[in-house]
Amino acid sequence: MAVKHKVLIIEDESSIQYFMQTILESNGYDTVTASTGKEGIALINSHCPDVILLDLGLPDMDGMEILAELRKWSLIPVIVVSARGEEIDKVAALDKGADDYIMKPFGTPELLARIKVALRHSAVGGTNSQITPDSRYSVGDLVIDFAKCRVLIEGRDAELTQNEYRIVSLLGKYAGRVLTYDYIIRQLWGPNAKSDNQILRVNMANIRRKIEKRPAEPRYILTEVGIGYRMADE
Ligand code: CA
Repeated sequence: MAVKHKVLIIEDESSIQYFMQTILESNGYDTVTASTGKEGIALINSHCPDVILLDLGLPDMDGMEILAELRKWSLIPVIVVSARGEEIDKVAALDKGADDYIMKPFGTPELLARIKVALRHSAVGGTNSQITPDSRYSVGDLVIDFAKCRVLIEGRDAELTQNEYRIVSLLGKYAGRVLTYDYIIRQLWGPNAKSDNQILRVNMANIRRKIEKRPAEPRYILTEVGIGYRMADE
């Protein structure tokens, strides 16, 4: 029997809490639930969950405070579950160390997929465990060859420039996870880089022309509008 992963659900709305708990239990996860931030923090300490689903709007504190507190001492994957439609909140959550976010209302497949991605990354210290021992990541007809620093599409070299390759390889290392524009910019051009999305957008347009069949409907690198990009992982 495989060891069950434990998911802590911090959510004050009982119907949503129940919905998530039911889905997870029937898909082989153990769950613990908390309805307040204080209770949630206590359960993180006593139960050491593998993943945390965190509602931002809690009665006693803001979910962002819990996230900030937690990130001082732990890298447990946190998926923010938010009803706040504001993109700025999602960006703030990701920048504060959330691994991912789900917007309410969400469906069962989305919830399960996000949890799977979070667990896969946490098992290898944050990066993608689908990268093979010979340092390749592939999805569909796209192959990122990390050892040779190149990207193949349908077996042919996509002929990316150095910056384009760095963007694609960064997204590939975290496939399935959304990386914010700021995060990508800082990784590429250093901590003092201006957070100007324009250069990134131009690079992305060029990348898509080289790797996507229909650049306007990308299959490999998806845009999370107003937030960042996500590399497809299946
Ligand atoms: Ca709430």
